[in-house]
Amino acid sequence: MKVTGLETIRLKEFPAILFLQIHTDEGIIGLGENCIGVETVETFLHETVAPRLLGKNPLEITALHETLHQDFIGFSGSAVAVRAASSIDIALWDILGQVTGQPIYQLLGGKVRDSIRAYNTCAGPGYGKGSSNIDRNRKAQIGEHVGAHFEDLVGFLNTPEELVASLKDMGFTAMKIWPFDEAAMRSGGQTIAGADLREAVELFARARAAAGPDFDIMLELHALWSTPAATIIANAVEQYKPFWVEDPIKHESSEALKRFKASINSPLTVGETTGTRWDHWRLLSTGAVDHLMLDPGWVGGITEAVKVTALASTYGVPVAPHDCTGPVVLTAGVHLGMSQPNIELQEMVRAYYFGWYQEIVTELPPYKDGKIWATEKPGLGISLRKEVPLRSDAIVRWSRLD
Ligand SMILES: [Mg+2]
Repeated sequence: MKVTGLETIRLKEFPAILFLQIHTDEGIIGLGENCIGVETVETFLHETVAPRLLGKNPLEITALHETLHQDFIGFSGSAVAVRAASSIDIALWDILGQVTGQPIYQLLGGKVRDSIRAYNTCAGPGYGKGSSNIDRNRKAQIGEHVGAHFEDLVGFLNTPEELVASLKDMGFTAMKIWPFDEAAMRSGGQTIAGADLREAVELFARARAAAGPDFDIMLELHALWSTPAATIIANAVEQYKPFWVEDPIKHESSEALKRFKASINSPLTVGETTGTRWDHWRLLSTGAVDHLMLDPGWVGGITEAVKVTALASTYGVPVAPHDCTGPVVLTAGVHLGMSQPNIELQEMVRAYYFGWYQEIVTELPPYKDGKIWATEKPGLGISLRKEVPLRSDAIVRWSRLD
């Protein structure tokens, strides 16, 4: 069996997302994905990855993983090289699953649980659709979708009580919100004004009052804050029992991370933007990380995610795969969650899951009563809808074996 083509598909409607299909001489097609800055990933895939992938046996996943990770440069961090290799790796596991007739979780050692607890990230349908949201612009994040189904960002900013009730109705037992982002935009993140602090803490308090003690609420800070400002925020929210405080600061500085953790009592999570086991090892070795996040599309694919998850287990740290990106990465995370013992949670965005994800792929891992699971279908168990590459806004590129 050999790889005969590498096809990338971008849709102008979703400029932050790249889909990738690895074609083989046996007609099996593996599906991969990436998110944010994807024109660059696309170029890197065709320029640098394709020449080393075409003609190779797609079932030699570990060897290809090593080939793509042992380049002269770009081998660590979540650099474009790691992200391109991540998309390839997910698609290769999809191929292996189809060849063997097994779901990926089975190939990773089989089920350790029948489903994984999912929490809802309270983005709305338009969040991340039109841009990568680097500027955290609320208007752009909400887009044209105000009033649409599952406008959960508007919900947590205005009516957290209704939001919690609606999530509970669907069986969710946890959600993630980010009421402090606008304050960071106003101040630049170095300091937080008293009124901004009180206003955002009040939103978190209202969410907690509505949720009661048995519904978990994650506080997302999107790495927008200085260490002292993030410390003030975390300590002000502590009495409302956040399940974790996520990405309070940019975590490049291990010393800042350790100092932050020493100044708060709430659990800390970081890691979704981190690539490879080497950078995750640096994070874990600070001793500051209570929960580790990883993104299969940014960490180095399923192969690297398994290694990082095992590494986290040696520190006694549970892992929660990231979503809020695209349907393929969500599905890859669910296969990890079904098969890796120290995975505790799967992130999902109900506005995406019940919205645009269904326009892109044929099916998704089933969700019910706060849980998500992978089916017994081979590989990822999902495929790109046939009409997607044919859409008028599709930008399709191929690298083919001669
Ligand atoms: Mg996050």
